[in-house]
Amino acid sequence: MKTPQKIGFVGLGKMGFPMAGRLAGAGFALTVFDINRDVQQRFVSENRATAAGSLSEVAQNCELIITMLPDSKAVRAAIIGGPQEDGLSVLMGPGTILVDMSSSAPLATRELGKQLAAKGIEMMDAPVSGGVPKACNGTLAIIVGGTQEVLECCRPVFEVMGDRIFFSGPLGSGHAVKALNNMLSAAGLVAAIEMLLVGRRFGVDPKVMNDILNASTGRNNSTENKIERYVLSRSFSSGFSLDLMVKDLDTAMELSRELEVPAIFSNCCRELCAAARQSLGKGLDHTDVARWFEGLAQIRLGD
Ligand code: NAD
Repeated sequence: MKTPQKIGFVGLGKMGFPMAGRLAGAGFALTVFDINRDVQQRFVSENRATAAGSLSEVAQNCELIITMLPDSKAVRAAIIGGPQEDGLSVLMGPGTILVDMSSSAPLATRELGKQLAAKGIEMMDAPVSGGVPKACNGTLAIIVGGTQEVLECCRPVFEVMGDRIFFSGPLGSGHAVKALNNMLSAAGLVAAIEMLLVGRRFGVDPKVMNDILNASTGRNNSTENKIERYVLSRSFSSGFSLDLMVKDLDTAMELSRELEVPAIFSNCCRELCAAARQSLGKGLDHTDVARWFEGLAQIRLGD
């Protein structure tokens, strides 16, 4: 199989915009689509790419289509379509490839893969880890589920967006690992916030305590990369929304229930984050959860 050169990219959000920008910069023939036409227009004015008027136009012009959408529901709507609009799969031909790089639900991905296979379309899941800064400089970790043969044919495309590419197993396994990773990441964030609040009440400066954690066994990705930058600074601007984080925790917990593996501790973390989102409202950054925990403790970590 040859590496596809004509690439479609659907979903130009916080992550999709810089990821697609790297593909355009690497010289692939890129066709982009987003339901938000302003963002699509901004993308083509800043990059060498064609704006598609519809999903059908993307399907007609591309050998490989990447989706970078909020969740499985949006991915399914874009691929299968609905009464209003045909989805990508209607006009994708046999031998074309669909790669879902969103953080989707693994069981829904498997189901979609079966429907696409019946039309001769290859599907892979390739969710990413690293956030907006790594999407911008092409250093994402990419977790690929599917077949090794299709991965090898798409590898040059992935290498433009990421510097660590993992094959996790059959279709859906990338999405499973991604949701489980995000559960673990959220647990690290929540635990760090709670312990910093206890330390603060005791009289320890949170910045000093966080520095100590980072030289000690309690350190994690949140203490190293999020607490000082987004919580103590009060910027709450990581670029990863609380809505999407709760969606990922729901995915991880659905998986644990479906597979009958107890995950009591993780479920408690999911409940806390869902309650924080319910109380704080939609459209916030995931690091805003700190403000909800501060409210419970009646104490603040930053000024
Ligand atoms: P986002 O909400 O910023 O972007 C989603 C984009 O998809 C928007 O531009 C929206 O207009 C578009 N869209 C929605 N439905 C559509 C449809 N049917 N057709 C075409 N366009 C549509 O989200 P994001 O932060 O870029 O995240 C995208 C995915 O990547 C999510 O699954 C998220 O969980 C995952 N992710 C995000 C981060 C991060 O740091 N933001 C990191 C890793 C993974």
